[in-house]
Amino acid sequence: MSNIKLRSGGTIPLEMHRARMVQKINLLPVNERLEKIQEAGFNTFLLRNRDVFLDMLTDSGTNALSDNQFAAMFQADDSYAGSETFFRLEKVLVDLFGKKHFLPAHQGRACEHIIARTLVKPGSVAIMNYHFTTTKAHITLMGGGIEEIISDEGLKVKSDAPFKGDIDIDKLNEAIKRIGTENISFVRIEAGTNLVGGQPVSMKNMREVSAICRALGIKLVYDASLLADNLYFIKTRDEEFRDVDIQEIMLEIGRLMDIIYFSARKLGSSRGGGILTSDDEIFSQMRELVPLFEGFLTYGGMSVRDMEATAVGLIETLDMGVISQTPVFVEALCNEMQANGVPVVLPPGGLGCHVDAREFCNHIPQEEYPAGALAAALFIVSGVRGMERGTLSEQRNPDGSERLAEMELVRLALPRRVYTLSQIKFVADRFAWLFENRHMIGGLRFTDEPKVLRFFIGQLEAIGDWPQALAKKFAEDFGGSL
Ligand SMILES: *Cc1c(COP(=O)(O)O)cnc(C)c1O
Repeated sequence: MSNIKLRSGGTIPLEMHRARMVQKINLLPVNERLEKIQEAGFNTFLLRNRDVFLDMLTDSGTNALSDNQFAAMFQADDSYAGSETFFRLEKVLVDLFGKKHFLPAHQGRACEHIIARTLVKPGSVAIMNYHFTTTKAHITLMGGGIEEIISDEGLKVKSDAPFKGDIDIDKLNEAIKRIGTENISFVRIEAGTNLVGGQPVSMKNMREVSAICRALGIKLVYDASLLADNLYFIKTRDEEFRDVDIQEIMLEIGRLMDIIYFSARKLGSSRGGGILTSDDEIFSQMRELVPLFEGFLTYGGMSVRDMEATAVGLIETLDMGVISQTPVFVEALCNEMQANGVPVVLPPGGLGCHVDAREFCNHIPQEEYPAGALAAALFIVSGVRGMERGTLSEQRNPDGSERLAEMELVRLALPRRVYTLSQIKFVADRFAWLFENRHMIGGLRFTDEPKVLRFFIGQLEAIGDWPQALAKKFAEDFGGSL
């Protein structure tokens, strides 16, 4: 485990790996950072990575690969059909989750597409702890709706609840009664709930939800993209599992779920994705869609090298020294931010540190995207690229009005095993400066707003000249230092 006790009684997050290959990064001067974010329409997705110092946009496809993953790439069997690589990956997945069938897909959202196409009928509702952007988009594309029934604790910024991603069982029962079993496409549990701060789901909750679904014949779908962090929290926050093998935990999850899918850009720290099920009928329906949308059944749009890396990465997920890396560094960053008075989502989750922009920028109305503004301001003062996870990431209501997000967050993702403790400390320091100068940050408005998933490529402008004033103050305070 990578949280190590110190002589003083405190702990330090310790890297349980060494860097054998490194990549140079640049920290541009503040005036150039200001220029770059303006050119990017104040959207951190539109920055060029060469202009970014620490890329904390996402953990998707940005995790460090291990020596064994690289080694495995050399044995990739490059054939269109019947590749040995496919059978190696299939065996790993089927063994890990105890499922019968595996379908490959090119990434997580492709799995969502296939599942939605198979199970979502127009007018049906998918019930879930919380949506992920692409999940919701694929369900609505098929004419379905979603209903979120996360525990009340899940939407509180600060809480003591160890498993804030849990489904509220009373709300689940009520929703099933109201919507009617026949109108429910499926119930979905998302591990390490992404949009509410990487918060885990407990095994107790998964057992309860599974029992309810089984009794009524409702399909239970599991989004395992962020399972690695969730496994760490099950091991460390639930007494029952302290001494239970991670493999045992995965097998139990497999037994509780009807369909499991994942993004291998996260789980397995590689690229790609896949769907697992033991349900022959659903499997044969989904199987028809793979050659049509993804590629032949033995690669599904993935490169064989990535498939080999995924197979090894999945096995490495059984190692607590590997999966503890991100959570303990997230905790260290959250602790440091808290000590500086910066409001963050607590308890610390997986995936990254989540800053509460509603509190941080309580002078900016939600319609002016406080989290988007804060992410842009952070880039100006640090070269760190975070991601807006708030109103900007929502889709407008059908009548064109803004759908205000329940949580207004800036996410600082920590790609697995990529950044060091000093880089974490740098982020916390610049964020503390920004907090002291938070009243200088102003709002944003769209200049180009796409209809679907607008946060990816939408462009905005600052309301007023706050970015220039912020850059000027930063340059004065740091005396020309970067
Ligand atoms: C990233 C993610 C997805 C989508 O996966 P991609 O590989 O990016 O398409 C789905 N669900 C969750 C919880 C995710 O974090």
